[in-house]
Amino acid sequence: MRLYEFEGKEIFSRYSIKIPRGAVASSPEEVEKVIDTVGLPAVLKAQVLVGGRGKAGGIRIARSREEAIKIAREMLGSEIRGVKVKRLLIEEAIKIAREIYLSITIDRSIRKYVILGSLEGGVDIEEIAARKPESIARIYIEPLVGLRSYHVRALSDFMGFSGELASKLGSIVSAIYKIMIDYDADLVEINPLALTEGQDLVALDAKITIDDNALYRHQDLASLLEKDPRDMDEDEVIARKHGFSYVKLEGDVGIMGNGAGLTMASMDLVKLYGGRPASFLDIGGGASRERVKAALTILLRRPDIKSIFINIYGGITRCDEVAMGIVEAIRETGSNKKIFVRLVGTREEEGRKILVENGIRYFTDDNEAALEAVKAASSS
Ligand code: GDP
Ligand code: MN
Repeated sequence: MRLYEFEGKEIFSRYSIKIPRGAVASSPEEVEKVIDTVGLPAVLKAQVLVGGRGKAGGIRIARSREEAIKIAREMLGSEIRGVKVKRLLIEEAIKIAREIYLSITIDRSIRKYVILGSLEGGVDIEEIAARKPESIARIYIEPLVGLRSYHVRALSDFMGFSGELASKLGSIVSAIYKIMIDYDADLVEINPLALTEGQDLVALDAKITIDDNALYRHQDLASLLEKDPRDMDEDEVIARKHGFSYVKLEGDVGIMGNGAGLTMASMDLVKLYGGRPASFLDIGGGASRERVKAALTILLRRPDIKSIFINIYGGITRCDEVAMGIVEAIRETGSNKKIFVRLVGTREEEGRKILVENGIRYFTDDNEAALEAVKAASSS
């Protein structure tokens, strides 16, 4: 999950990293109010999750109220690199003496955190790396040891900072390391970190990405994601909310199973019989009828799916719960897609009865069900 700049800066501020005074606005009227508190000149920044906003016209400076309103009118509703601008962050303009790059990320190949720092900030790190690789400090942190003062000293030495400036840099590095740990982030980046004329360090930008697999530990972030799904597609958001795994694929045979292994084996079966899987959908263990219903509804609503193969091997999962979920999904969507259900295991008799009462055929052999699903997709 990626955080918006203003969300990242809120976190920075809580960890005592200096940020410019500012606030978010989503209409020209709100911009006017923010200008009253922030003052002039002010920087208007499009809150979109794309890099290089500056170059794409997403960062503009206003010297008067009128100019701020004019810029706000132009920017709100426009597109930056294909993403619609709904919000602006308006901040006091900081006088920059030097733009620094600073981040902490994870180097997966060696299983360590790495601090990246450069005096050539402002532009993309990739660009710095390509143009002047020797200008980037890479300082590795063993996670079991954690951040130590020698890491920070190495960075300050590389940057040529000493005294108060070195200690300010140290506080910021400690803060972003703490954010990495506290939020299960895989990247915390400040680019640029402005060195001001008064020898202060101020974070002008914030880029934080959180490991999606850790979101369950951060309910506050998960609820932000629910309100604003960002780059996640709608169905992925539904899946996350209901606790099942869904990956959309290109084919026309929808596949739903319980357990990742069985679901993958079901995809193999469809492939074996010459079909093309349209999904990897694992409802997980002990799925309730609500979860089954939400999951199947995704497949039923997709116009590109021609038939559906459901493969359930009930252990903790109860076949009757699954059957009820299937029936409810079909009823609510009014879909007439062809569905082939292989249903065996816990409470299979009850489950099969529910299916038959609702005119749905069941299979005990998953080879047969997969084959029928493939045939149905290719004949429609
Ligand atoms: P990005 O292009 O999406 O990374 O957006 P940034 O937030 O990094 O801003 C891009 C550039 O705008 C920065 O490198 C600065 O040069 C400039 N900028 C951003 N905020 C300020 C500010 O408060 N004062 C000044 N003078 N320049 C700013
Ligand atoms: Mn930036």
